Amino acid sequence: MIKINSAEILCVGTEILIGDIINTNAAYISKKFAELGINQYYQGVVGDNPARLERKINEALERCDLLVMTGGLGPTYDDLTKEVAAKCMNRGLTLHEPSLAKMKSFFAGRNIKMSENNVKQAYMPDGAIVFENNHGTAPGCAIEDSEHGKIIIMLPGPPNELVPMVDNSVVPYLTQFSECIFYSKNINIVGMGESTVESYLSDMMRNAENPTIAPYCKEGEVRLRVTAKVKTREEGEILCNATIEKIRATEVGAYIYGIDTDLETALINILRMYDKKIAAAESCTGGLISKRITDVSGASDVFDGSVVSYANDVKNKLLNVKPETLAQFGAVSEQTAAEMAEGVRKLMNADYGVSATGIAGPGGGTPEKPVGLVYIACASENGTVMRKLNLRGSREHIRHLTANYALSLAIERIRK
Ligand code: ATP
Repeated sequence: MIKINSAEILCVGTEILIGDIINTNAAYISKKFAELGINQYYQGVVGDNPARLERKINEALERCDLLVMTGGLGPTYDDLTKEVAAKCMNRGLTLHEPSLAKMKSFFAGRNIKMSENNVKQAYMPDGAIVFENNHGTAPGCAIEDSEHGKIIIMLPGPPNELVPMVDNSVVPYLTQFSECIFYSKNINIVGMGESTVESYLSDMMRNAENPTIAPYCKEGEVRLRVTAKVKTREEGEILCNATIEKIRATEVGAYIYGIDTDLETALINILRMYDKKIAAAESCTGGLISKRITDVSGASDVFDGSVVSYANDVKNKLLNVKPETLAQFGAVSEQTAAEMAEGVRKLMNADYGVSATGIAGPGGGTPEKPVGLVYIACASENGTVMRKLNLRGSREHIRHLTANYALSLAIERIRK
């Protein structure tokens, strides 16, 4: 059995080099390496040039035992990955009849005439293990060289073909080579800052060996990643759950809103749990908070609607924000945010009203009210809480962060 001490990824395609496409394939495969406990120290990208491709493959094989390549398996003259990789592994290429048959039925099923050059895609390196492609025409494959302890895996470039092939064929294939896997769970925390979380858990985090506990801040929330090095997923589940229970028992426990979830799903779940409804009044987010809520299937159980109140007139007429409030404090103020949240709660007959008003930029800022100044509020029968945010970034980013903080605030209030 070949021993994989380290792996590398080499993505083929000039369009990656010139920045036309982002290398999501490498990111996806890297995550799988991490889960499988496979070390990766280097990664590469090379254009569609056979000489440079050959050099990169040979360089990589000097360093690692497993090279995973993506792209260049297409039918055209510049798709050369298989040919060059086979040469580097001293293999010829032979027509793989089952792949040809599958390709023919792929085209027949779509009523498309298969072109002659597609046959090239069914030629596989001698002795290769072939990975079926159920979403396109190019099969993937693995070439094993037991004598030198090297493996090359080749996968199609299009992510919609690569991702299922990695999940269904490559991961099961690689599992035989790895002695352990990394199993992770994310604890989602809202309403407590990263440094406070760390201060409560510092001893636990420092002493944790398996699983380890690592915090990271994520736009309006804190996440703790609990990672266990184990032989099976079942073992990972048991170890991670035990650590999660220990963390729940600390001061941090009251701020955990979920495990491996996101803000909108957690909000829907908690509203459902308490049989409550929420409505949103949105200015600078222009409906983004409502969009995020309605991204979750079944949101209608807890969400009847919202108001996008961009103009002051709409804030006043629909949400009952007082003209005096707008005149005295302005549309971007905690007073306006509070009245928006209270107004929409009443208008929609909801238990909670959440609101956001701010300056998303890039224009519209003043020295007193700069770009990124945002007020959010959440109203309920127990009163209204407001929060001032000083955000940075592009218009899109500020709006995204505002929605995160507004969803967080709503979760926080409902939990109280
Ligand atoms: P095809 O049969 O479509 O030619 P292929 O295996 O030859 O597939 P490429 O021609 O290299 O793959 O890439 C096809 C498309 O897949 C690219 O235009 C790009 O949209 C996408 N793609 C390729 N490599 C990557 C990558 N590393 N990350 C994300 N997308 C990629």
